[in-house]
Amino acid sequence: MQKIVVTGGLGFIGSHTVVELQNEGFEVLIIDNLSNSNIGVLDGITSITGKKPAFFKIDLKDKQKVAQFFKENKVDGVIHFAASKAVGESVHEPLKYYENNIATLIYVLQEMNKNKVTNFIFSSSCTVYGDADEFPITEKSPIKKAENAYGNSKQIGEEIIADVTKVKNLNAIALRYFNPIGGHKSIKIGELPLGVPQNLIPYVTQTAAGIRKELSVFGNDYETHDGTPIRDYIHVTDLAKAHVIAMKRLFEDKQKAKMEYFNIGTGVGSSVFDVIKTFEKVNDLKINYKVVDRREGDVTAYLADVSFANTELGWRSELTLKDALRSAWLWQEKQEIK
Ligand code: UDP
Repeated sequence: MQKIVVTGGLGFIGSHTVVELQNEGFEVLIIDNLSNSNIGVLDGITSITGKKPAFFKIDLKDKQKVAQFFKENKVDGVIHFAASKAVGESVHEPLKYYENNIATLIYVLQEMNKNKVTNFIFSSSCTVYGDADEFPITEKSPIKKAENAYGNSKQIGEEIIADVTKVKNLNAIALRYFNPIGGHKSIKIGELPLGVPQNLIPYVTQTAAGIRKELSVFGNDYETHDGTPIRDYIHVTDLAKAHVIAMKRLFEDKQKAKMEYFNIGTGVGSSVFDVIKTFEKVNDLKINYKVVDRREGDVTAYLADVSFANTELGWRSELTLKDALRSAWLWQEKQEIK
């Protein structure tokens, strides 16, 4: 049985990926520092899969601990999620983002190299394309200057990995996620931000639940069909499955290059108002919202061309925005019962 390290494995995308890996027979070792996650997620994963993954509470900024982990655990591959991820916050806290997202990546790659671990999947993002000029975005679209420190950290991260693959025994795949949302169909794991949510969907669900008074819609003067920005929202379960397929591609030596990049989205764009309307419809609820100024660092649109992932990776999304917004609400409701 192949052993996979999942950093940030108790986080939103990480936990869903751990479930899919275990369902496919991989043995999983989670590293997480619990900075934006909850230890209870481990029970959720165990309850879904019937198997408790090994858990290591390690802060990847602690270089010694990272070294010790890789020395003590022989593993076959790494999926690296652990990072800070709020675009808005990154504008105000650039150093936090560069330390959490770049320094930790370097430590993980150093220890993989020392311990001859050669398979690496990087949690990248559509933000690497910056404020793109043409839609949908393909993997060949220009990497424009990032609009914020978060996006820049992902651009730099990809470059670091690519440089390492050129000279070391490392095979890597960067999955460029569009906007991951929703939760597992069992409603045992979902998105669980600590504190005030930065992302749209948890803010919507918490507003519907009455935890937040109203949702701020950040600008309605963008050049889109209703003035609000467009994103390609992808169900987290579909996204999680892309990681399993990518890891198998590495193990089966199917790569066409030592570093590959895939867009992981749906190819369908939705505005903030589209999301609000769909959420209200599928859950039979009303959301209080108010249009406010644009948020710094936001771009007008992100929309994926997913044909390369479809044909080359053999992956495609199966779930819809409706599925995702329904599961997000069911998950939110469950939090209240607790
Ligand atoms: N958004 C919003 N109100 C919020 C949070 C987000 O209007 O409280 C908008 C944001 O401007 C963007 C979209 O929702 O157009 C998605 O934002 P999110 O932070 O979820 O993801 P991003 O695309 O920034 O990574």
